[in-house]
Amino acid sequence: MATQTQSAKEDLRRTLERIDGRGYPAYRDLEGTYRFEAFQLVIEHVQSDPFAPPSRFRVEMGLDTTGIPEELYADPVRRTAMEDFILRTAHQRLKGWRQRRGSGKSGLIEITEPSQVVIPRSAVEIGHSRLTVRFVVGLPARGRTVLGRQAQEMILEDIPAWVEESFLWKSMDQNNARDHVALAVDQAALRRWMAEEKVIAFVADGAILPRESGQSDKPMGRGAVPFRSPESLRREVRLPSGRSVAGMAILQGITLICGGGYHGKSTLLRALEQGVYNHIAGDGREWVLTDPTAVKIRAEDGRWVRGVDISPFINDLPYGKSTDQFTTESASGATSQAANIMEAVEIGAATLLIDEDTSATNFMIRDARMQALVAKEHEPITPFIDRVRQLFDEWGVSTVLVVGGAGDYLDVADAVIAMESYIPKDVTEEARRVVERFPSGRKAEAVGPLPAKPVRKVRELGRRPKPGDKWKVEAKDEHLILYGRERVLLQAVEQLVEIGQTRAIAACLRILTERADGRTSLAELVRQLLAEMDQKGFAALAGPRGCPGNLAMPRPHEVAAAVNRLEGLKIV
Ligand code: ADP
Ligand code: MG
Repeated sequence: MATQTQSAKEDLRRTLERIDGRGYPAYRDLEGTYRFEAFQLVIEHVQSDPFAPPSRFRVEMGLDTTGIPEELYADPVRRTAMEDFILRTAHQRLKGWRQRRGSGKSGLIEITEPSQVVIPRSAVEIGHSRLTVRFVVGLPARGRTVLGRQAQEMILEDIPAWVEESFLWKSMDQNNARDHVALAVDQAALRRWMAEEKVIAFVADGAILPRESGQSDKPMGRGAVPFRSPESLRREVRLPSGRSVAGMAILQGITLICGGGYHGKSTLLRALEQGVYNHIAGDGREWVLTDPTAVKIRAEDGRWVRGVDISPFINDLPYGKSTDQFTTESASGATSQAANIMEAVEIGAATLLIDEDTSATNFMIRDARMQALVAKEHEPITPFIDRVRQLFDEWGVSTVLVVGGAGDYLDVADAVIAMESYIPKDVTEEARRVVERFPSGRKAEAVGPLPAKPVRKVRELGRRPKPGDKWKVEAKDEHLILYGRERVLLQAVEQLVEIGQTRAIAACLRILTERADGRTSLAELVRQLLAEMDQKGFAALAGPRGCPGNLAMPRPHEVAAAVNRLEGLKIV
């Protein structure tokens, strides 16, 4: 397979010989499609100089040629797992390669590095009986002079060898591949079981929740205390592979996680936040699964808010500022947290995950003494404690809440879990007794039922660029998108796990800017676009230069979160 058909080899060789020693722009002549024996190589876009972002390459191969057994990619769950496995193999195989052949990025061959989660990515896609692999290459140069011979080595020898080592079934670690897919199938089955049993979160015995450090998403090594479910909350599930997992099941409704400081509350909640994704074996969270629609809610003072109905939580602002289409350039802690909840529900969250550490106190609670001191008519905020039950009863939205301080919440909880030295205890009964012995004395403040769930129609995301405008949308880092001149801050959008998702969201913003029409709701716009991605793959996000190899699938929630933070967002 390393032997290419004459035409490709000769074509490429001739071009490279011809441009050897010329100025770097001569590499442009390489753009095109080359047929190798077992695959096609597409040189999509050639970089402008050795220091610019590297050139975009794509390999396409018939799935039958790869020899990968069809049962390993027969449905979306298996396909995503197999794509992820192939990417991990391909990335691994590039480690330790000779990567320098001149100035700048010369000699580089690079494919996206996957994190601990298994999600669709544009680097490796299976579909239409093809395997598509997208990667980048630093075409070699000395100074700005084409190094034709080195380029020949890279394109005619290294890349074909890498393709053979990474994408052919016979060179893969087949047992690992089968295990990788079997894990995803089991995780999907556990998620189905959870939905049937009204379980919004599952944390298996033995799970490792703490991470290596704030910077690393790898599991904590020595000293990590494995998770152990309280007896009363433990459920055991048998999975398609034949294995069983046992662990703590959190049911729909209102669950409190309490306990002393430093006992592992926030660590458990963080694991639940990430449980919307499947994790790889060895991560420690492969059996920590959460309702995939769950959204972490926090205070985010200073954020933009555009036309959000926050009236269930905030009313009668000073000077009569309306709150059923609330707009501000700089939200307070409480108004931002209210907006975050309403927006999450609008895009389909059925579970809210909240940590007292990152909440606005006055949004969460007003205790009896404060109620006595400041009359309700002078307090615009209806605290979350007075709406959390209605969110579940009227909208079907559950809440998991970390509280260390606000004991009044015991009044409204269905289940109370106490963390003690990283081990959870079911203290629901104890909490009931405490409530009877120590009444909070506070009065409920919610008046009337919740309004209908929010639905906003979008007139525009921002000013549409005119033809010829130098307007682009790009992800600067995992939590920052540049939208034209505007900075879209996503620091508080904590369930983004890969910068590839942020890049895909940037592409979504570009497309949705064109599509907003004043008639379609935000949720519908986002749903449609993600459905197209399910159908067509990442090509649905292709821009003027095709589809880059560094995109990853976002959830609708994070796409909407970015739209909601746009300065120019206009609601009908
Ligand atoms: P809390 O929110 O209750 O104050 P955290 O979740 O922030 O506590 O945890 C405090 C510290 O304990 C963190 O440094 C965290 O990494 C560590 N930790 C959390 N869970 C475990 C565990 N299961 N095993 C070992 N260390 C843990
Ligand atoms: Mg904490």
